[in-house]
Amino acid sequence: MKVLVINCGSSSLKYQLLNMQDESVLAKGLAERIGIDGRLVHEVPGRDKHSVDKPMPDHAAAIAIVLDALLDATVGVLKDKSEIQAIGHRVVHGGEAFTKSALITPEVEKAIEDVSDLAPLHNPPNLTGIRACATNMPGVPQVAVFDTAFHQTMPEKAYLYSIEYALYEKYKIRRYGFHGTSHMFVSAEAAKLLGKPIEQLKIITCHLGNGASVCAIDGGKSVDTSMGLTPLEGLTMGTRSGDIDPAVVSYLMEKEGLNGQQVNDLLNKKSGVLGLSGVSSDFRDIGTAAKEGNKRAQAALDIYCYNVAGYIGRYAANMNGVDAVVFTAGVGENDTYVREQITNYLGYLGVDVDAEKNSQRGKAMDISKANAKTRVLVVPTNEELVIARDTKTIVGGK
Ligand code: AMP
Repeated sequence: MKVLVINCGSSSLKYQLLNMQDESVLAKGLAERIGIDGRLVHEVPGRDKHSVDKPMPDHAAAIAIVLDALLDATVGVLKDKSEIQAIGHRVVHGGEAFTKSALITPEVEKAIEDVSDLAPLHNPPNLTGIRACATNMPGVPQVAVFDTAFHQTMPEKAYLYSIEYALYEKYKIRRYGFHGTSHMFVSAEAAKLLGKPIEQLKIITCHLGNGASVCAIDGGKSVDTSMGLTPLEGLTMGTRSGDIDPAVVSYLMEKEGLNGQQVNDLLNKKSGVLGLSGVSSDFRDIGTAAKEGNKRAQAALDIYCYNVAGYIGRYAANMNGVDAVVFTAGVGENDTYVREQITNYLGYLGVDVDAEKNSQRGKAMDISKANAKTRVLVVPTNEELVIARDTKTIVGGK
């Protein structure tokens, strides 16, 4: 069975075509600048990247161009588009309606639309992608895989904010958490690496990419996570502030003459390590600047690592222990300095990282010293594979 995985943003569309017989990636790529002009970068493993500039007035046009590339005589991997037997979509917010992935029906589309208020930047483009696929591939079953679903096992004490309960009832204001497919995948892989059933493990997963979140996983279930109603809460991120005193919002509105949306933009797009360092949101640039003596870049790294270590301590306390801490995503998989700094705080938990092992990057490994009580693992994430697996299961293919 061949499954097309789609991750739609407001002006971009990432895709992967997987052969589910061996879970191999047949092709992947990125259509970007949708609605502006249009550019496609298409990649077949083992071959050169292929890029085309073509007008993409909307997402339906982008999907049509992706299908052209997949069917192309030289860079394609399909003879006919009917070979695509199912489509899996990343959908960011499932609210309380979705505790697992779902076959897309008109009712499911409506439910995704109903929670769009909670993720105005993400859910509308996700829906656009679903509709664009229906236009280009009518009759092909589509599945929605939600970033929030894995966290629906959180207990009330972890997901309720301490505000009037009526506001939760009226607007569903609560912690939802994101990166669920990643936290689920890497915790399951971590259990395999440790050679123990996940039901017997307490794991803290740190998804440290452009967006970043930590998740407490007890017996395979998410029991707490650092992102909240939106992906702004929690850790310091590339451009997002993470936790701040909520009073900062009204203070900034008053002092800078900004409206709510403008403060929201400032906290989402100009804060985090970018705002702190003034250098970049990319940890490679910040690391280089810090090495060259840039004090603000060093401060940004210090604050970042201090925050992650703080969340790990909090979740170890809340779970009354931790067997393994897992690092994943762009920074977690690759930035050996950040891993070293974070784990330096964790000696009291029985963490003891082997510097030589930590100097490696980008592969699944245990980087702890042999006798360390609490293991530290690096596990590359693979959200597309989770989406494709769920799609296959729900559609019932082979
Ligand atoms: P992601 O959102 O998971 O794709 O992660 C993207 C982020 O990972 C980038 O913004 C970089 O900050 C970071 N990153 C990627 N590669 C490296 C690397 N080799 N060293 C440090 N940071 C990296």
